Amino acid sequence: MGVGVSIRRFAGAVSVLASMVVGYVACVPVAQAQGKAAVDTEKSVPLPPGLDKRFMDTTADPCVDFAQYACGNFAKLYPIPSDKSSYGNFHILYDHTQKVLHALLEKAEADSPSRTPNEQKIGDYYATCMNTEAIQAKGLKPLQPELNRIAALQSKTDLTALLAHYQLINVNAFFGYGEQQDFKDARKQIAAVDQGGLGLPERDYYLRTGEAAEKTRAQYVEHITKMLTLIGEPAAAAASDAKKIMDLETALAKISMDITSRRDPKNIYHPMPAAELATLAPVIAWPAFFEATGVAGISELNVTNPDFLKGMNALIGSTDLDTIKAYLRWQLINGIASTVLPTALDDENFNFNGRELSGQPEQEARWKRCVASTDGALGEALGEVYAKEYFPAKSKQETVQMVHDIENSMDREIGTLTWMSPETQAKAREKLHMVADKIGYPDHFRDYSKLTVVRGDAIGNSIHAVEFENHRQLAKIGKPVDRGEWGMSPPTINAYYNPSMNDINFPAGILQSPFFDPNASDAVKYGHIGAVVGHELTHGFDDQGRQFDGNGNLADWWTADDGKKFDAMTDCEVKEYNGFTAIDDVKLNGKLTLGENTADNGGLRLAYMALLEDAQRKKTDVNAKDASGFTPLQQFFIADGQNWCGSTRPEQLRLQVQTDPHSPDKFRIIGVIQNMPEFGKAFGCKVGQPMMPANACRVW
Ligand SMILES: [Zn+2]
Repeated sequence: MGVGVSIRRFAGAVSVLASMVVGYVACVPVAQAQGKAAVDTEKSVPLPPGLDKRFMDTTADPCVDFAQYACGNFAKLYPIPSDKSSYGNFHILYDHTQKVLHALLEKAEADSPSRTPNEQKIGDYYATCMNTEAIQAKGLKPLQPELNRIAALQSKTDLTALLAHYQLINVNAFFGYGEQQDFKDARKQIAAVDQGGLGLPERDYYLRTGEAAEKTRAQYVEHITKMLTLIGEPAAAAASDAKKIMDLETALAKISMDITSRRDPKNIYHPMPAAELATLAPVIAWPAFFEATGVAGISELNVTNPDFLKGMNALIGSTDLDTIKAYLRWQLINGIASTVLPTALDDENFNFNGRELSGQPEQEARWKRCVASTDGALGEALGEVYAKEYFPAKSKQETVQMVHDIENSMDREIGTLTWMSPETQAKAREKLHMVADKIGYPDHFRDYSKLTVVRGDAIGNSIHAVEFENHRQLAKIGKPVDRGEWGMSPPTINAYYNPSMNDINFPAGILQSPFFDPNASDAVKYGHIGAVVGHELTHGFDDQGRQFDGNGNLADWWTADDGKKFDAMTDCEVKEYNGFTAIDDVKLNGKLTLGENTADNGGLRLAYMALLEDAQRKKTDVNAKDASGFTPLQQFFIADGQNWCGSTRPEQLRLQVQTDPHSPDKFRIIGVIQNMPEFGKAFGCKVGQPMMPANACRVW
């Protein structure tokens, strides 16, 4: 399964709904790579405070380059380690949290009779992942039945059963499949069939012109060749198959919708009776397909991209069975988690996805990858133990208070918007009041009792965890929505907004220093976690979120005139970010990043207004320097800037700009403060200086 945007492949499925779920950062957990273990000292990773003066370059002028001023020394203190493609404040916290999880897992892996069933599962999953000798000894034997199944295909009619099985083990050959809340009726959970079938990160990787793109494609064909060789194909046949596979995937890319268009929910919403899907793509026997995935009797579903299904049908029809078989072998070996494969395959996977695509010199240490894969497979079992031991009740209470403050400041701000009619303002407030706040971890943890984890069976454990999760997702179809469900595990260093749920979610992982430093000043707290909260809340009102109402339904609650004005205001941000150059000839895509940029801009303003309100209550002078040497307002902006201290390897930067709706770190700092004259005032800048332009954008 796996419909929607997934940058890293974890064991858990990504349902179609994920394509509208918006996270705070792209992908801190780096679960894919491995090889030779990077040196690890096993010391605990100290967390920086909310405002870290060591990171600042005070020789820089904050009015000329605020990113340099707030973070200019960060890379000197924290150069990118050889096992990372980027490194920033998020990674410091990620490394810290991984060590904590590591200790929990080492405790759980000791085979004691007092282990709870969940401790047995996470402990054995982790121990099995760490046992590379056993993985090596078994080799590809556990995958042989899968490979035999492909070899046994007699005709294209046999594809239905095989592709259904593939979807359940996260091999998205030809298309994607999953479940989602119905965009227009969020109480309903329906099946969804999506475009899919690609092995490169995104459609445009197949179609873009230029030297860098051509080099990546050549490396990709080489990578497929090597992987096929490693599963036993003679070199010449593998090379010839790789070319055919590349042609087939390129043809699939050509009929796929681009990621920017996919951000508009209307573009990926085409509900239809199941019978209509049968006329779009009769090459698959859909009723049998659904039944084979455990959900019989599907009468209606969302076909995200009907043209793709039609094109795919024609493509399968015109491709010979041997090429299809080669493509299926490749998709299988590429879809299985790399950590459970023999070293040669794991290394080759890293060579392409880590080294060539992301510029990462070395694979992460084995234990880091196994911690990440256990979190991916059993996130709420591991997260339950983690949250109980490491998430203080006080952090939860303070965050709840902060969220309420920021919701109140949004309520007030909406009333001051001169461009929006009172009618739309009232509707916006109505939606705001319906947002559900989720903080730390779920009220009810997931039940893993039906998932069996066997010590020593790495491939089996990985596949069973994936199947378990996909069955869990598909079982939702036709049932009432569980509004308490979480889409991220408790230790995750991230946050998200989900428009169908209309909820904002802050896992325990991100509620730690520096993002939430219990000892920091109020101003620093508002600049850090306050900006994160404001960001997620604003997602409910960005170009995507604004199309959903308080109940999570795709429904237009805007007057036509206000809708037009919103588009014009956001156009200012599109132009602003289009003007930023990430690297060489690669500019930011202002339309792809619009939702995130709107959330960054609106979020910081909300946090700023909440800080002022808080200061008024406490009678703090926000313009008076304190012992830190900075005024509270300056502390606020520096803390926000330091959310994004970090550096990124050139290859990873290119990958990010081409696939990720989040702007690179530097532009998350300066793109926002350039739009806040309040920043310029706090630092004594003059209008016309780079960080205080005359033509600032504002939406919320
Ligand atoms: Zn976001």
